Amino acid sequence: MLRRLKKAKKVLIGLLLVALVMLGAGSLIDQWLFKVPIFGFHNIIAGRGGKESYLDYTQSDLEKFLNPLVEGNYWFLDADSLYRYFLTKSQPIPAEHRGQKPVMITFDDGWKSMKTYVLPTLEKIEARTNKKVKIVLFVNPNSVKVAETGKPPHRSKKYINCSDIKEGFEKGYFDIQGHGFSHKKLTTLGIDDLKAELSQGKDFVKNCLIGLNNTETVMSHLAYAYNKVNRRVRKYAAQYYLSGYLYNNETLRLGWWSDPYRIPRLRVYKQDRPEKLIKLAAASSPIK
Ligand SMILES: [Zn+2]
Repeated sequence: MLRRLKKAKKVLIGLLLVALVMLGAGSLIDQWLFKVPIFGFHNIIAGRGGKESYLDYTQSDLEKFLNPLVEGNYWFLDADSLYRYFLTKSQPIPAEHRGQKPVMITFDDGWKSMKTYVLPTLEKIEARTNKKVKIVLFVNPNSVKVAETGKPPHRSKKYINCSDIKEGFEKGYFDIQGHGFSHKKLTTLGIDDLKAELSQGKDFVKNCLIGLNNTETVMSHLAYAYNKVNRRVRKYAAQYYLSGYLYNNETLRLGWWSDPYRIPRLRVYKQDRPEKLIKLAAASSPIK
């Protein structure tokens, strides 16, 4: 009996050692992987009142998060830069970015707060540091339409309209990308509805920017609504978009396994302190 117990103890210690070595090797390998943290925000609010959603983030916390990144000379990627320089490597990274750490700051759903709170925050940061923070907005064309037409009135004030989009884009802060026509769960749709949800309204949003330069890359990348994607959705998304973004709370680690249609994003919740987000951003790999 005692001998069996001793043997079991040895096996247990052996297994524990193997697990420790594997964990150590895993984190060692992880250190070598090139990482790009991509943050997924939603609505931005003036302050906490207790009634807001868990996805709302306050303007002052957003500013506290962005300030050290700007001062640390981070590279705020737009969707085209991530695709071109990191996912497909179709072009070499311009030398001016050497030493910089890349991050991406994204906002889903096209809330009106992009105009009322985010834009002024970015302008304030630029006035102080002379540096421009580029952000990616994943918008639903139907919401832009609602805001633009004022119908129905009770929803029209919730979202950014064409002139908000145009202003942020013209000033060089907004990259405008897609989030599905009307925020449907793509995995639940039949083929025709899926195609419509992916393609409808892309031109409507592009037309908001008519007459401006550098609009070729607008609405060419997609964030899946509700983080809902499967093989079928991925296949059809590839017909209308160059890449697809998840909302799965992971950091992008580049390698042979990187799928441009399954780009991970870190979730940002109301209770997340700016310090926590700054730490996550700091895990980004400097460009060599
Ligand atoms: Zn959404």
